[in-house]
Amino acid sequence: MRADRIRRVVIVGGGTAGWMAAAGISRVAGELPGLEIELIESEEIGTVGVGEATIPQITLFNAMLGFDEAEFVRETHATYKLGIEFVDWTRLGHRYVHPFGFYGVDMMGVQFHHHWLKARSLGDATPLDAYSLSAVAGMAGKFAHPRPDQPNSPLSKIGYAFQFDAALYARYLRKLAERWGVRRTEGRIVDVEKHGESGHVSAVVLSDGRRIEGELFVDCSGFRGLLIDGAMGSGFEDWSDWLPCDRALAVPCENGGDRLPLTRATARPAGWQWRIPLQHRIGNGYVYSSAHVSDDEAAATLLANLDGVPLAEPRQLRFRAGHRQRAWVGNVVALGLAGGFLEPLESTSIHLVQSGIARLMTLFPARGFDQMEIDRFNAETVQEYVDIRDFLILHYKATERDDTPFWNTCRTLTPPEGLAYKLDMFRKSGRIFREHEELFTETSWLSVMAGQGIEPASYHPIADLLSDRETLERVAHIREVVGETARAMPEHEGFLRRLGCDLTPLRRAS
Ligand code: FAD
Repeated sequence: MRADRIRRVVIVGGGTAGWMAAAGISRVAGELPGLEIELIESEEIGTVGVGEATIPQITLFNAMLGFDEAEFVRETHATYKLGIEFVDWTRLGHRYVHPFGFYGVDMMGVQFHHHWLKARSLGDATPLDAYSLSAVAGMAGKFAHPRPDQPNSPLSKIGYAFQFDAALYARYLRKLAERWGVRRTEGRIVDVEKHGESGHVSAVVLSDGRRIEGELFVDCSGFRGLLIDGAMGSGFEDWSDWLPCDRALAVPCENGGDRLPLTRATARPAGWQWRIPLQHRIGNGYVYSSAHVSDDEAAATLLANLDGVPLAEPRQLRFRAGHRQRAWVGNVVALGLAGGFLEPLESTSIHLVQSGIARLMTLFPARGFDQMEIDRFNAETVQEYVDIRDFLILHYKATERDDTPFWNTCRTLTPPEGLAYKLDMFRKSGRIFREHEELFTETSWLSVMAGQGIEPASYHPIADLLSDRETLERVAHIREVVGETARAMPEHEGFLRRLGCDLTPLRRAS
């Protein structure tokens, strides 16, 4: 057995990131002889407490932890999610869905959307949404699990994620992590001690004087980045010039309207509003640019656009788009908000925690802390942030809106190089390339580029292997199959009830 093994991991913070890290590390490495994992959190400080919408990769994390999905859905008051519905982003009155899964069927070795583009050039104006089972089923309030055993059905490749109560998710993870041996310590960290020579963190000191030593520290302390920034001075890469939203107001409300398996993102005069239907309530929030709207005006807009009675006063969160220049410094690895934040438009924060944990487990250090491995971790982390940043900027850039100063600024911004390349390529030829295993697939890029009105000048020449008539017939057939499959799927609410979920709405205490 290696003598230089890490024996003490200390996780600082018990928000979603802290408990995901605790559960993930203990599940994978917890049985290493002599390994101790301790998590420190402070109820006095609390957590961010938002973070309700996820992307399909979370199903892999849940599977790794061995979750029973029905139990997880019941305990976190979750609903299913088939994509994000974007309202008013292209222009007022316009809507489209960024679905999980695929569009249509590739034909003649050519991606489906080239056939769709060809059909459009022949006068068939059907929007892309009609060819996605997730989009059609989502808008119809239907849900079913993927059926890989039915390879000819669009259901074989449907993707799904969850919308849940973030506090209940952290509680659920905590129960598992404690079962797997993670020790929880309540207390407020007031000091960080470092080795004089290595500069590594040796211990954190709590307000009551307790000292907690460790060899590897995982900083999940939220925006403040207690260790990664405070103690290790990792530096911050600020992207607010590209992503100007810097505040959010969050408020839950009573159930009202629909409970579609979709997150809704509605563009507002100086940002956008989320609507996340859970079993017992709806999560809402207005993400906005403080340079373009006052807090009072933002609160009024949010409260005027709820589907039910608010269950609390709106809570404000302030942030800066960007990430730590180095997420791993010495013996400190930052995960979650301590590592960076990109606004929740595509529900990527919890995923960034998940991918950070996966990366940490791949590069799990020994006590020597090899700099080459640390550099690898940091380079991959930065790349992941850059890729997501570009995808988010696309939503703001690809708009026709010029009705408010905010939207005019977004529409006219100069995109980063990677995004500019993707936009050029798509405009010219309808081609999309997924670079270096980036998080968002061709389907995602297509959904937002096409959804927000970017019209390619042409389509793949090989799509002409099908005659014009065949193209129109085949796309019409695919549409029909998608529609019929969606009609045959169960109602989302009925699906939840069959899992034993209690859909009784929460009511505001009078
Ligand atoms: P926090 O929740 O802030 O937790 C920090 C922890 O550190 C707490 O336990 C705190 O007690 C502890 N701590 C801090 N300082 C000390 C100290 N001195 N001593 C002891 N303990 C300390 N993500 C998504 O994936 N989907 C979404 O839809 C989504 N929506 C969001 C909307 C908004 C407006 C914001 C701001 C974020 C959203 N996120 C979303 C992100 C998501 O909320 C976070 O990624 C997630 O909650 C992880 O937070 P965290 O655990 O890093 O930080």
